Amino acid sequence: MPRPLTLITGGTRGIGAAVARRLASEGHDLVLGYAKDDEAAARTRAEIEGLGAACRLVRADLTTDEGIDALFAAAAETGRITAVVNNAGATLHLGPLVETPTDIVRRVIDLNLTSAVLIARRAVAELSEGGVLVNISSGAATTGSPGEYVHYAAAKAGVDALTKGLAIEAADRGVRVVGVAPGTIETDIHADAGDPDRPARVAASHPMGRAGRVEEVAGVVAFALSPDASYVTGTTIRVAGGR
Ligand code: NAD
Repeated sequence: MPRPLTLITGGTRGIGAAVARRLASEGHDLVLGYAKDDEAAARTRAEIEGLGAACRLVRADLTTDEGIDALFAAAAETGRITAVVNNAGATLHLGPLVETPTDIVRRVIDLNLTSAVLIARRAVAELSEGGVLVNISSGAATTGSPGEYVHYAAAKAGVDALTKGLAIEAADRGVRVVGVAPGTIETDIHADAGDPDRPARVAASHPMGRAGRVEEVAGVVAFALSPDASYVTGTTIRVAGGR
């Protein structure tokens, strides 16, 4: 049987890189998209190859049509994709919505919702029977993230609706669409929004008293992609420590 080929957007860092390592250890070859941080990308590729999997890196801005085309074209050159993890995202800024600049609101919704919808559309068009799309949402979709990033939460709530509707559209072609909604996870996304210590700062307000680790999300994504989840579609699995 051919090895599965999984495309992960934002697969070079944080949650996406942990998903890549986990899938590589389970026999997937990978195409990893990313926007910046070539060093992290090269490190992740070396880790994946060290696990015996093939890994292609594609640096492309997924807020552009050209970037999405370039990523899927590179994947098609590699082989027939069997799964897509729609993971690229960013928060960019922290603060109440009334104090958030218009430009940040637009950029955050553009990446976390519009690009996610366009990537999901392309993924479902290219996946064949047995294919799986995992959309990475956020616990923010239901908490609303007051005081931090309400617009990001609104975008991620849109991703949950995307998962539901697209799963129904794709079901008769044998393609599953599953959401995974992490809570606060220790990654560089927080530093990029100006608060590297955010996970430790908010941990006390979480039922489990700590932030999550990337591996704790990767395991759930791997489950969603696996035959064990063959009857799971159109739903979003929360990985948020009880929050
Ligand atoms: P991260 O910043 O470590 O990684 C984000 C990845 O997305 C990087 O590889 C980056 O290059 C890529 N990316 C960003 N903008 C891009 C663009 N314009 N074009 C192409 N690629 C782009 O972040 P992370 O914490 O690993 O987040 C991964 C996903 O998980 C995101 O969708 C995020 O919203 C979601 N999430 C994260 C947390 C958390 O606390 N870390 C919580 C809930 C949801």
